[in-house]
Order: sequence, then structure tokens, then C-alpha cells
Amino acid sequence: MSSLADLPIRDDLRGLKPYGAPELKVRVALNVNENTHPIPEDVARSIIESVALELRTVNRYPDREFLKLRDSLAAYLNAALVEESAAAGLPVAELTRDNIWAANGSNEILQQILQAFGGPGRSVLGFPPTYSMHPIIAAGTGTEWIPGVRDENFEISPQTAVDWVQRTNPDLVFFCAPNNPTGTPLSLETIAAAYDATDKIVVVDEAYAEFGPSGEPTALSLLEGRPRLIVSRTMSKAFAFAGARLGYLAADPAISDALRLVRLPYHLSALTQAAATAALAHAPEMLAMVDDIKGQRDRMARRLAELGYSPYESTSNFILFGGVPDPHRMFEQLLEREIIIRDLGIPNHLRVSAGTESETTAFLEAMDEITPR
Ligand code: PMP
Repeated sequence: MSSLADLPIRDDLRGLKPYGAPELKVRVALNVNENTHPIPEDVARSIIESVALELRTVNRYPDREFLKLRDSLAAYLNAALVEESAAAGLPVAELTRDNIWAANGSNEILQQILQAFGGPGRSVLGFPPTYSMHPIIAAGTGTEWIPGVRDENFEISPQTAVDWVQRTNPDLVFFCAPNNPTGTPLSLETIAAAYDATDKIVVVDEAYAEFGPSGEPTALSLLEGRPRLIVSRTMSKAFAFAGARLGYLAADPAISDALRLVRLPYHLSALTQAAATAALAHAPEMLAMVDDIKGQRDRMARRLAELGYSPYESTSNFILFGGVPDPHRMFEQLLEREIIIRDLGIPNHLRVSAGTESETTAFLEAMDEITPR
């Protein structure tokens, strides 16, 4: 048997570590920022019907342009966009199917973006600690990863973003808003300033956008007039659809033309398209648990602070908290109680996803027990 080291793998992949969140079956899994609520029964039934219908013609390749799904995604985003723009007094620029592209999870969206706009000899600027897949996808596509440095409290001011863009002149800038794993929101001013400081691509990974303050504008509101801006979204989080694998982006239509050059033909299966389209038809019901999750997140933050930890402000479905003397030990102590959270290797910090009310209670009770007094 040979090992990876014996294989004639690309030199730039030697020694790298793959994405590594542990996949353990435990009672309370709060480690990968999933939506832990199952999808409502009537929505599940409607999705099953759509998928069953699609199975009858699964001998044929699917719609390579996934037009129905793109229409549904545009309609979904427009509903929020109209509300956000009105609240902020901004003009509404509604999206159409031409502004939308989709793939098997937003990881694949980000990969296609780097395949088209990054690659050997090119670079992407990101701001760690951030989503661990950003540098991994950069490595996979041969794109140099440039780690920028955040301000206090993991924030990025417009000036900090501009300084880093000017200093490093990257081919892409990756923001994550709110940021995983810190939960930190990102101002629209920072995104706009970074955009103005470069003539290259700016990507805002908004995987957790729906968990932000209701009615507040997101990077979607910046798209009009900014053809190099890409907003990446996913159905994995707010939509509780992680297992179905559906990520998407909103951008100028020319961006999809670029991604068509690198995507594999028929990359979105007919079953995925049918399932996602059916789920989007029930968007309000699918999103009903978002408010509950936000409530559990805030409850977690309050209780963690009472217990003496330092939770960071979060506009996502998870909390990063500091003040943990030994993160590895605390991770193990929780695991002994069949609760898994995330140790990201940030000294004295751990991250936990908000669960259902009972999962959150289980976590907080365990923390109560294991907190040294
Ligand atoms: N972006 C961020 C910031 C994430 O945290 C995640 C998942 N943890 C993703 C993208 C990828 O999600 P998916 O591929 O399921 O859409």
C-alpha cells in the first residue's frame, strides 16, 4: 500500500490538510453551523413529489441552465431585497435569472469563481480567521492565498480593507459577511471601499445572511452598478438544506458567462434542481425557524457571558466565545456529554452553533457543569 507522500501529486498540494470538521454521530451536534431543525413535514412532502416527478425523466440530462431554479432564486432574493432597500431608502434593482448562478453548495460556487478568476500566478486576499474552506479552495485551484489582518474584535474597517487591497493587489478579494467563525458583521462601506480600490473581483460570502438583523441591507444592495461584485449565498443554513447541496450567487450576468467556461456540463442534477425549486416555493415556512435560531443564539451569548466567557457579537447562527483556558479539554468534556462543538485552533476560543431550544439547553447545562468556579 502506498501513501499520499509516495504519489506524484502536485507540488503545491504536498503537505496540505483537507477540510477536517469531525463527523461524529452524537446527541447534540453543534459543530458545523447547520440548521438543526428538520424541514417541515408538508414541505418535505412537496419536495418528494417534485423529485419523484423528475425521476421519471432522469434518463435524460438535466436542464444545463437550471432556468426554473434560477427564476425561483431570483424571486426569493428579490423579496428580501425590496424590503431591505425600502428600509434603507435605496433604489430597488430587482434581480432576474440572468443575475443568478447556482452549484452544488456555495463551496462549489467559490471554487468555480476561483477557477475562472484565480488560478496559477493569481492571488486571492482574505481576512483570517475566516471560513476554513476559502484558503483550501484557493489551494485546490492553484491560487495564492494572501492572509490580510483584521482590526480589533475581528472587524475590517474600510481603510483596513483598502490598505490591504492596495498593498497586495490581489486578483480577488474574499469577504465573509457575517464572518465564519467569528460571527462578525461587515459594513457595506468596507465592501464598497474595497471594490473601489481594485479593478478585480470582490466576493462577499453571505452564507449566513438570513440570520442578520431583519430588514438590514446586505451586499445584494450594492450589486447595481458594480459588475465585478459577487454575492455568494447558500440554502445550507437558513433553509435547512445542507444535505441537498445548493449554493448560488447573485452578480452581473457576465459573471455567469465566466463560470460557464469552468463548470462541468449538467453540474446540477435534475433531482437537486427539483428539490431546491420545490423548497423555494415554501420559503416563508422554510425560514420560519430563523427567528427561533436567532433567539437561541442570543440566549447562548447571554448565558456564556454570565458564566464568565467572552462571546463575540454575532449576526449568524453561531457564537465564537473566548475566555476558555483549555479549548481542547472543554471540547472533550462536552463530547463526553454527547455534545460536539468546534475547536478551530484559535487560542482560548471555541465556536458553537445555535441549536433547537432543547439542544441549546443541553449545551448550556453542560457548560454550567464544566465551567471551573
Ligand atoms: N461559506 C461559509 C462562510 C460557510 O460557513 C459555509 C459552510 N460552513 C459555506 C460557505 C459552504 O456551504 P455550502 O457549500 O453548504 O453552501
